[in-house]
Amino acid sequence: MKPTVRSHDTYQNFVLQQLQEHYGRSIIHLNQDWPLILKCWQADLSGITAQLQDQYSDQGPEARDPASMLRSYLVFLFTNPGIGITAWIDEMKRTPIYAILSGFSPDDLPGVGTFYDFIEQRIWPEVDKNMKPKKQKPKKKGNKGTNGQKPKPKPGTVERLVQWLERHMDIFKPLPGDPLFQFFEQNILSVSADLGLIGDPNALSVAGDGTPVVTQAYRRSKPTCDCRANGIYGCSHHRIYSQPDCNSGWDSSRETYFNGYHLYMFTAADSPHDLPLYPRLQPASRHDSVSLVASAVEFNQRYTLGSVDRMLLDAAHDAGAIYELLDKQGTEPFIDLNKRSKTNIETGSDIQISPEGIPICPNGKKMKSNGFDKSQNRRKWRCTRSCGCSDATYGRTYHTKSSDNLRLFPKTPRDSQAWKDIYKRRTSSERTNKREKKDYQLEAGRHRSTMMWTMRIYGIMICQHIDAWYESQKDDWNKLKTTICPAAA
Ligand SMILES: [Zn+2]
Ligand SMILES: [Zn+2]
Repeated sequence: MKPTVRSHDTYQNFVLQQLQEHYGRSIIHLNQDWPLILKCWQADLSGITAQLQDQYSDQGPEARDPASMLRSYLVFLFTNPGIGITAWIDEMKRTPIYAILSGFSPDDLPGVGTFYDFIEQRIWPEVDKNMKPKKQKPKKKGNKGTNGQKPKPKPGTVERLVQWLERHMDIFKPLPGDPLFQFFEQNILSVSADLGLIGDPNALSVAGDGTPVVTQAYRRSKPTCDCRANGIYGCSHHRIYSQPDCNSGWDSSRETYFNGYHLYMFTAADSPHDLPLYPRLQPASRHDSVSLVASAVEFNQRYTLGSVDRMLLDAAHDAGAIYELLDKQGTEPFIDLNKRSKTNIETGSDIQISPEGIPICPNGKKMKSNGFDKSQNRRKWRCTRSCGCSDATYGRTYHTKSSDNLRLFPKTPRDSQAWKDIYKRRTSSERTNKREKKDYQLEAGRHRSTMMWTMRIYGIMICQHIDAWYESQKDDWNKLKTTICPAAA
């Protein structure tokens, strides 16, 4: 049977009654659990039960409440992110408060199968638990980059990808993680937006960055042929891969190869809590610039709370096609220049442009920015008369337009205070990734499928948002202690 949608009040009453029954007046001794109790008490997850109704049949015994299943998964991540689901159920048996806060009576806990059924059949109803088929051509190890950086995609890759996506921009390609994003956006992100925790949701500043996720020490695969038995090695026949969406990539911070995913994350850059917005798992070898393009198009199609006004990216994303893509989406790119080029750019006049986008006068001097002419939509540059490059009374002038070169002449000039103020928030994406990997032990998941990794990532993201709700309203929330336990007064 379909699960009954229980209101959050019903859940709260259940928790009160169960705490009374199992802890009585000694609930006051649960001091170290108060933050967890308050987070569960306040976070209304009943939306998941309503959302997943269609995934359950009308027949058979009534299903476990999806809100409680999800809440239990969050309590697991809040308290014991390093263990597996089986060990988590044992942990709930030993620690009744974890069961109660999940929404379960401690003597009536769901089994491991129920947890997997909830994720595999309801949250991710696709037959395939990965994005790519398990049967693949054998792949070579990825290349090591130069200067400790991940190898750049081949020239033209980003341009071709952007061109392809621009032709297909109107086509919405559903992704198996969409139900999770839908729940996340409507029940978690929107709450954070109302609390003012993600900046202005109607004009978001988004920071994007990728981070390695190690899933296994070696890439495991089985042959589909018997070449090896016949003494033929290194053949190119298909193999069956246990983790088809993963491959080998270069981890520049640990300076080693790894097997797994490249997790590309969008973060609310103006969020004081560095709150995550949109996750995407890519193969380990994928470069930030390629991942960004896919994420930008997907997020643009899915984010319904407003629009993305600014995108803050590091120099690995400094490719002309990315500026054009974001500009077409109505998003202003804030991207650091990748100073690979040392030579000036010719303009067809006697003025050259430095690799940083500053006009150079015929005498080889950097021209000075002289304000923005809004009516003409162009920036004015000048050289003083003392330079001698011009006989004009006010010296030599030159104009640059963003539309001529978005990369070199961004709407907000890179040397302005406005740029510095906006761009310094880019590191919020690094803090988000660090929090997910260190505090919530993302890589301890030991999962094999993209489905389970996606579930874990969204679970951790939800925890990060609920943590921020608590941190930003601690005083008010702490007043609720007396409602939950009158003896706590
Ligand atoms: Zn073979
Ligand atoms: Zn000059």
